[in-house]
Amino acid sequence: MMGDPAGGDVLVLNVGSSSIKCVVFDAALHEVLRGEVAGIGHRAALRMGALRQPVTAPDHGAALSVVLDALEAQGVALTSLRVTGHRVVHGGPNLADPLLVTPEVRAEIDRCAPLAPLHNPHNLAAMEALAAQAPDLPQVACFDTGFHANCPEVAQRYALPPDCAEAGIRRYGFHGLSYAGIVTRLEALAGVLPERVLAFHLGNGASACAILRGRSVATTMGYSPTDGLTMGTRSGSIDPNAVLRLAGERGVEGARDLLNNRAGLAGLSGGISDMRALEESDASDAAFAIAHFTYWARRHGGSLIAAMQGLDAVVFTGGIGENSARIRAEILDGLGWAGVCYEADKNARNAPRLHGDGSAVTAWVLPAEEERVIARAALDLVQA
Ligand code: ADP
Repeated sequence: MMGDPAGGDVLVLNVGSSSIKCVVFDAALHEVLRGEVAGIGHRAALRMGALRQPVTAPDHGAALSVVLDALEAQGVALTSLRVTGHRVVHGGPNLADPLLVTPEVRAEIDRCAPLAPLHNPHNLAAMEALAAQAPDLPQVACFDTGFHANCPEVAQRYALPPDCAEAGIRRYGFHGLSYAGIVTRLEALAGVLPERVLAFHLGNGASACAILRGRSVATTMGYSPTDGLTMGTRSGSIDPNAVLRLAGERGVEGARDLLNNRAGLAGLSGGISDMRALEESDASDAAFAIAHFTYWARRHGGSLIAAMQGLDAVVFTGGIGENSARIRAEILDGLGWAGVCYEADKNARNAPRLHGDGSAVTAWVLPAEEERVIARAALDLVQA
């Protein structure tokens, strides 16, 4: 048995548009097992521990059964679980803090489905399938928007008449579970949480957040995760009239596909969304895509520094943020005016602490820990 049935394991589920990721933690929040079914609906495959195999998963329900069977085969039975935590992409205007999943909470997540049509319905399906198989297993929903719920109204509202905001057209922000994890981890590493933190979550999706005294006051993603920084396949910020023209010329679906799946690094480079592949390429388009990525990270970073009226620490996380010394250097070099300095050898090693002793503005590389944040919140709720 891999887990700890006496204390009760925590299963964290991250249900995406075409994948289900799972992580099992023991009661002390040590990670015991991690797995994923990717390619749902189209050549699905399971990874769990050392196991790699093609599976039949035409839809999310089938994929969840594959995950649960594989967990059981590895010694983590549903009956050994204390609680399951779900990453829910969108909590809309009313759901921010982690919540025990009740029929009312499910109904509210369902009401948010138009805000995250590729995610929230799958989260709900997973909750319902689990409830059918294990009716006594508590489930907790954690919202990726929640960390930004208390941003000042000026940061949340678009300059539109009030009926638009009332209809839910406002900035929400995402990557909130990652930023919440950064606050916890940075406080532990630094001893005292720096007052004004500029955090970059740079993965396939990328955003930045101004964290003032541990709380989000501004972030680059908005109504949807397409706004803000240049991303793997998403455009980042673009003039609304350009979007209207694209929709007029290509249809709404054509524009949506372009802006979300064929823009960003992929759009600029001729199809390469993967930063490591771009860094390895000699093509001038690849170099331009990287330059665009780091230029806009610095530009948005400057705006977030203004929102906090200064800067005490910069943090990088996500696949690019944790692993690419070049990208971090290009962003940090452009923020020297804000007092940022770092040591090149530490940056080359992806060291957690990039700054030297006595640096007024500190710089850090921290792991993205959304699953641990969810597990901690789920345990806290069932223990309360
Ligand atoms: P997601 O947003 O899908 O969770 P990740 O956080 O895993 O994505 O980040 C994926 C990105 O990280 C890819 O662009 C990948 O190329 C990049 N990446 C991972 N390792 C490196 C590396 N050593 N150098 C540069 N980029 C890297």
